[in-house]
Amino acid sequence: MFPVHSDSIVDRFFRYVKIDTQSDPGSVTQPSTAKQLDLSLLLVSELKLIGLPDAELDENGYVYATIPSNSDKNVPVICFCAHVDTSPDCKASEVKPILHKNYSGADIVLPDDPEQIIKTADHPYLLEKRGNDIITASGNTLLGADDKAGVTIIMEMAAFLVQHPELKHGKIRILFTPDEEIGRGVNKLDMKKLGADFGYTLDGPELGSFEEETFSADGMKFIFHGVSAHPGHAKDKMVNAIKMASAFIDELPKDEFSPETTEDRYGFVHPVRMEGGAEKMQVEFIIRDFNTAKLAAYEDYLVDKANDAMRLVPGGRFEFEIKEQYRNMKEVLNLHPQVSAHAREAIRRAGIDLKETAARGGTDGSRLSFMGLPCPNIFTGEMAFHGKHEYVSVQDMEKSLETIIHLCTIWEENS
Ligand SMILES: [Zn+2]
Repeated sequence: MFPVHSDSIVDRFFRYVKIDTQSDPGSVTQPSTAKQLDLSLLLVSELKLIGLPDAELDENGYVYATIPSNSDKNVPVICFCAHVDTSPDCKASEVKPILHKNYSGADIVLPDDPEQIIKTADHPYLLEKRGNDIITASGNTLLGADDKAGVTIIMEMAAFLVQHPELKHGKIRILFTPDEEIGRGVNKLDMKKLGADFGYTLDGPELGSFEEETFSADGMKFIFHGVSAHPGHAKDKMVNAIKMASAFIDELPKDEFSPETTEDRYGFVHPVRMEGGAEKMQVEFIIRDFNTAKLAAYEDYLVDKANDAMRLVPGGRFEFEIKEQYRNMKEVLNLHPQVSAHAREAIRRAGIDLKETAARGGTDGSRLSFMGLPCPNIFTGEMAFHGKHEYVSVQDMEKSLETIIHLCTIWEENS
């Protein structure tokens, strides 16, 4: 048990969420919005005040800093990573955080818009947090605990380790990224400059949750070519690509293989876009599964269905292409089992029950893992993110902080 200070966590978190750092998928700049740098610059100056003089913001909007090793051992360099931007899905300017001390377990009515009520019926985890100190927004905006909870915890870790040299650890690298919410979080990351062996993102939800798996993902595109003819003289000549594509979609099962019919560890094929006309139609899919080998089976299955459609609407032809999107980070983490093993041990030492979860999507960690930084995801307490009902428990943030401090010492002990 470490004497972590909840007042300091709350002050720091409030300071960060009040800064608007919303990213913008429509922007072509790096980072996508200049206002993200308002927080990044503050983080650099606070890191320097904490006692990390090499803290810097690079030209692409990444913050890097080092906590030097205080061990004689040869300990791998560990990176802790969080993202500064907030979701473009909800208003994010003028965030007014509210601290609900010793939360009663009742529904929380947000004062700036009384129609916004965080109901425990919809958020059973909130009810479990009765007696904790809960932070919410005020009703007009998201909160931004995703991922300023992670940013706060990493900053507190840095302050704590600098103040407690008796805790032995190797070299620690801190990384704050922009634009995670729009899928560009690691596009311009300089892996050489980062110089870390293994990493952890601090961007997971409930207490004790730990994620070392993401989906593996491909994109697939079918192009149906019909035969065009003047509709007045089309008998026995025209083949309508719209009817070909419709027959294809109609061949897909209604009760399986879809996002709307699967959960947990089941994958899916999902048509996301269809466009064209009588002459040519294009149908785009995303293909997802935790088991990468299964993607090819799903793809073969779709090709079979397209061939079935050709028999139903004969005379046309189709082609397809497949694009790899991202891969389950567990494929990388399996090669370095100590990364997850040490995280599980740290969660255990913090006195928390481990909840292993698998992300039904991709994370920056999955991309980082394949860029050479094996990087699972650790809980922060952030819940109901990307909306006005977002909340976080201060005690969950404290436990996350305690977990990563243990994690630093566990790497040192095992080196
Ligand atoms: Zn996040």
